[in-house]
Amino acid sequence: MSADHTTPEIRRAARIVGLREFNTPSLEAVERRRLQLWLVMAVLLMCLAGVAVLTSMWAIQDTRPGWLSPLVMRVAIFGLTASFCVYAFEKELHLRRLTFLLADERVLTAALTNRLREMSALLEAGKAVNSALELQHVLDVILNSALELLEGETGSIMLLEGRHRLRVVATKGNDVARGQEVAMGSGVAGYVAEEMEPLLITGEADRSTFRNLIPRAQRVESGMSVPLVNRDEVLGVINLNAAAGRQFTEYDLRAVSLFAEQAAAAIANARLFEMERAHTAELSYRAFHDPLTRLANRALFVERVEEALAEDADTPRRLAILFLDVDNFKMVNDSLGHAAGDRLLVAVAGRIEGSLGHADIAARFGGDEFAVLLRDAADDFALTSAAERILVALQSPFSIGGHEVFIGASIGIAVPDDDTPGVDELLRNADVAMYKAKDSGKGRYVVFAQEMHEAAVERMQLEADLQRAIKHHEFVVHYQPIVELSSGRVTGMEALVRWEHPTKGLLPPADFVPLAEETGLVLHIGRWVLHEACRQAVEWAREHPDRVALAMSVNLSARQLQLNTVIDDVAAALDDSGLDPERLTLELTETVLMQDTGDVVPRLRALKQLGVQLAIDDFGTGYSSLSYLHKFPIDVLKIDKSFTGNLRRGTGEGVLTHAIIRLARTLHLRTIAEGIERPDQVGKLQAMGCHSGQGFYFAKPLPAHEAIACAFGVDLTASSTS
Ligand code: C2E
Ligand code: MG
Ligand code: MG
Repeated sequence: MSADHTTPEIRRAARIVGLREFNTPSLEAVERRRLQLWLVMAVLLMCLAGVAVLTSMWAIQDTRPGWLSPLVMRVAIFGLTASFCVYAFEKELHLRRLTFLLADERVLTAALTNRLREMSALLEAGKAVNSALELQHVLDVILNSALELLEGETGSIMLLEGRHRLRVVATKGNDVARGQEVAMGSGVAGYVAEEMEPLLITGEADRSTFRNLIPRAQRVESGMSVPLVNRDEVLGVINLNAAAGRQFTEYDLRAVSLFAEQAAAAIANARLFEMERAHTAELSYRAFHDPLTRLANRALFVERVEEALAEDADTPRRLAILFLDVDNFKMVNDSLGHAAGDRLLVAVAGRIEGSLGHADIAARFGGDEFAVLLRDAADDFALTSAAERILVALQSPFSIGGHEVFIGASIGIAVPDDDTPGVDELLRNADVAMYKAKDSGKGRYVVFAQEMHEAAVERMQLEADLQRAIKHHEFVVHYQPIVELSSGRVTGMEALVRWEHPTKGLLPPADFVPLAEETGLVLHIGRWVLHEACRQAVEWAREHPDRVALAMSVNLSARQLQLNTVIDDVAAALDDSGLDPERLTLELTETVLMQDTGDVVPRLRALKQLGVQLAIDDFGTGYSSLSYLHKFPIDVLKIDKSFTGNLRRGTGEGVLTHAIIRLARTLHLRTIAEGIERPDQVGKLQAMGCHSGQGFYFAKPLPAHEAIACAFGVDLTASSTS
């Protein structure tokens, strides 16, 4: 200790006892001074005793000087002894005082040193705690620092889970297992957390006081439990147990409580940091993943393909890209709702992933479009088997909201070559090949070939043209007469749309209806045809009042029938034209009916309620099940031209056509045979009991004025007009 730290009181006391030269009087110096004092005193007293003996001898021998009477001598000796004693006593008093002061100061210094040591330990622990960022690391640092601070042996930290449970999240040398839980209010920790008060447990006395809190089996000699409180909110509890033979004191409890405040703040910070990190991770995950299916998104997929292309730059071809579009997804979405559509997409993603190898990557590009990066497509066999595996996986039915949903997929495949070095070109080619797969009948894969690109460009052009055609009213309706076979009279017309393309001329529906279906443009076209056909039927009836009013058949596309608006459209067409609903027949294909997901029947009933007739077009060509003839409110069966065309052979097809007609009759349905091209077919069909017929033999589809001239002008059973 330096002189500056010596108190003035001590310095004064030291001066008094003759320790003037000591700037830093120590207990040892005081003791030495005390010894010197008492030695001097002893010598003096011995000297006085000697003098006393001498004077008494002088008295016996009477050799003393005359002035030295015995009285004088006694008084002198007594006086000297008394003054020595007083001096020594006074010095001793000061020495004692100095001793006490120094002892006090030593105790104080020791306490101060201890305190300083603890403070620096606290600061160090605080620093460590605050520098750690991961929650688990923070908890471990807190526990270790607290045990080091108190020379504790074992301990644990419990954090609040929800509102009512504490869970052990960090332990040291403990028999408490991580993850163990206690309820709020139960046990020492539960009690401390609930009361938010620290608790010191020492020896048996406390054990009996807290016997409800400390289990009997738990041997605690001395321990403490301190709540971790941050901004008046309890986060958890820190439990510390002393080493054998050590007892924690109130002072230790205070020190740990102080530390616990810092610790709680550090825990809250670490939690905040973890939440922020999780949030950031989630954000960056979202930036590269599809939130619905959790597959990679386009950005991540492109990045992976770029990496793969760079890796494979010097090696023979290894990778391929598959572009996949779910067949009929739109129908599921429209009929079962978007939630069901989402569930279907998640299931599709799962099946795609399940049919890939470890290194392959699946991604969702949005809607029902998926992409796959195959990393091991060294040969065509590997490539096509991967595509087949995906197709097979998607073929089995999906169970969505109690419905069995059948979908499938069209896959386009592209492999890198010298002409397609980049990701964009690869993706574009795979996309083009996918459209080719769709056009070729769906449920298949197609490997990209260069000529597909030109076709795709043409298709894009066609789509743009279609949009324009709608705007500029480039569509016309041609009509094909429907003839009653028994009488040869035209009883109705079928409206068939055509596109008057400005450069390509008159286009048949096959050239644009499929694309219009896909893009949804068919809704506009279909609505227009419906209105136009109804209007035309009414006009003909007005122009030829003497003739039988012709019925009008209009084709409805799958897309139209998926929406309830079809009911309003039909009602509006009837209203606007004033056509008798009984004279309107709506033609639906079997495929439309087979894809029914529950709401087609009510929609058809609603249409029936308008008073219109419903016909099944191209009957016998779809994957039909006869049961739907009962299920749907149908009036007419239109036998597909493939049956009519083969009638001449007389065997198989003739039998089938006959069977269809008999079946229809049993079900009280009228029959119309399509595609009659020869007179012998008319006779055969008539003999089989078919009601009506339609075909080039009677008339081709014609513009309105020609069609009506043809219908009312000549006897159509006798000759073809085309
Ligand atoms: P569909 O409803 O079965 O119409 C009959 C088709 O068969 C017509 O073809 C017609 O020209 C053709 N056809 C008629 N008689 C004969 C014949 O004796 N021999 C042969 N080989 N063919 C014959 P088109 O006009 O090209 O129509 C094709 C399909 O396009 C229609 O088949 C129908 O499904 C669809 N379509 C036509 N117009 C519309 C429309 O306005 N809306 C919708 N959604 N689809 C339409
Ligand atoms: Mg038709
Ligand atoms: Mg047909």
